[in-house]
Amino acid sequence: MANVDKTDVGSTSTSLDLIKLNDDEADDEVFTDGLDEDLLGVLECPVCMEYMVPPISLCESGHNICDRCKPQLPVCPTCRKPFLANTRNIALESLADGVDYPCRNEGCFEIYPLHIIAQHEVVCPHRPYECPMAQGSHCVWKGPLSLMNKHVMEVHRRYVRLGAESTSVLNDVSKTPGYSLVIFAFEQVFLQRSRLHDGKFYSAVQYIGPKENASKYRYEFPLSTGNEHQKLIVGHLVHSSSEDLQSVNK
Ligand SMILES: [Zn+2]
Ligand SMILES: [Zn+2]
Ligand SMILES: [Zn+2]
Ligand SMILES: [Zn+2]
Repeated sequence: MANVDKTDVGSTSTSLDLIKLNDDEADDEVFTDGLDEDLLGVLECPVCMEYMVPPISLCESGHNICDRCKPQLPVCPTCRKPFLANTRNIALESLADGVDYPCRNEGCFEIYPLHIIAQHEVVCPHRPYECPMAQGSHCVWKGPLSLMNKHVMEVHRRYVRLGAESTSVLNDVSKTPGYSLVIFAFEQVFLQRSRLHDGKFYSAVQYIGPKENASKYRYEFPLSTGNEHQKLIVGHLVHSSSEDLQSVNK
């Protein structure tokens, strides 16, 4: 019949309040149309069609090859002759030094000189993101932030909380050693990761998106027990990356 034991377990409820801090300056995105397509065309790798960055290698006949494609090819794909072992196209490399490269991420129109472009692509708002549920569910989805909402709603709907305030009831924390929830609030994506470690319950919120935006949000984490007026509120700034989160969860 009914399981009466359950009434003996005092249920603890935990809620999460996300707070947006004052929004001072709008994103100053750099849109430039100063792209020198003719010059960039010379730098196009014949195999992957991406713009080459140094080191740029040569085959015996003088064809160029990018550093990513060269190790995967036994001979030059244009003339079938071998690549020169330690010879680089210095002239083309110095030309690359003076060229602005377009960001390779779809939807991004920013251009940067060679020494900056790689750094930009890592923090670019249009870079592909991993699925926020990747860790728990082994989901391999990767895509721009603009499509993350759709993916998460389609595939991980049961782990989604909508809005800045959410409450979950923890019946027995020891039986749920870890869980993640994706929170859509303020038109942004957050990940709340909670877990039990050494008898302690940890929970932290991560902002999914450009790192500099994370500090605009903080979260409060009130814990209350069902029958008594016990309430504990923990507040913290939202974390910007999963690395931050791991150090909190330790
Ligand atoms: Zn290539
Ligand atoms: Zn060749
Ligand atoms: Zn970009
Ligand atoms: Zn996924």
